[in-house]
Amino acid sequence: MSLNRTAIKDKKRIVIKIGSSSLTHETTNSLNLSKMEKLIRILTDLRNQGKDVILVSSGAIAVGRETLGLKEKPSDKIVKQACAAVGQARLMMVYQKLFAEYNQVPAQILMTKYTMINDISRKNARNTFEELLNMGVIPIVNENDTVSTDELEFGDNDTLSAIVAALVHADMLILLSDIDGLYTDDPHKNKEAVFIDYVEVIDEKLCEMGKDSSSSVGTGGMATKISAAKIATDSGADMIIANGEDVYIINEIMEGKNVGTLFKAHKDENFVLLDYIRTKQYP
Ligand code: GLU
Repeated sequence: MSLNRTAIKDKKRIVIKIGSSSLTHETTNSLNLSKMEKLIRILTDLRNQGKDVILVSSGAIAVGRETLGLKEKPSDKIVKQACAAVGQARLMMVYQKLFAEYNQVPAQILMTKYTMINDISRKNARNTFEELLNMGVIPIVNENDTVSTDELEFGDNDTLSAIVAALVHADMLILLSDIDGLYTDDPHKNKEAVFIDYVEVIDEKLCEMGKDSSSSVGTGGMATKISAAKIATDSGADMIIANGEDVYIINEIMEGKNVGTLFKAHKDENFVLLDYIRTKQYP
């Protein structure tokens, strides 16, 4: 079932997540500058329309790895953390430069799970987001990979972006991925796989499909996206998974066009963000 998406035009507070693979060239791992340039123009234009915009950007580890000339993807935690320290600074330097072209001020917010668990840190983070958005700034968020520990890490930016959306009471979350959205099965393996453009309710069946990597709904990483959708929609935000190959898709989404998979918001009054963060058992 599809849904008339014209109401999306009126969304006011939007969180957009972009992954490392969407920001870098596949062959070299170097930043795809023309794509980033387009992304920055689109985000600034959303801001110019009076919307609050938050970007959750991955890429710290990938950019650090490329900068340090590491051929292999690091598996050692300490190497990853060193890469993130180098890469995050470089990533922000590029974002600053591109945003400056349009006179748009960005800011950096790095979070760990501890930021959310600790009552004072969580309150501080929320207040800082509010203040920045009031000032017309675009916060750029990432996990603080350099200091996060296994026990206190989000681990993926799909989850982080949903938590940020819930924290700031966003009404829209867009996950830009390397797939078009949700399929009934992995479209690379099963030609019969059917694209799902609209999810009214995230039921157990959907969660199970996402968790089971062998029957994988779409490609890998769909489980974290469904989990993110559960957090976002329960907290009151619509969520869309869309292909970030062409970042102009953000404009199409905001114009209400039928692209990507839309998960409908259904604010759950019993939803307590902290319960999820503490237990990591959601859905
Ligand atoms: N925080 C990681 C990075 O910036 C990315 C995590 C993810 O892609 O989900 O490299």
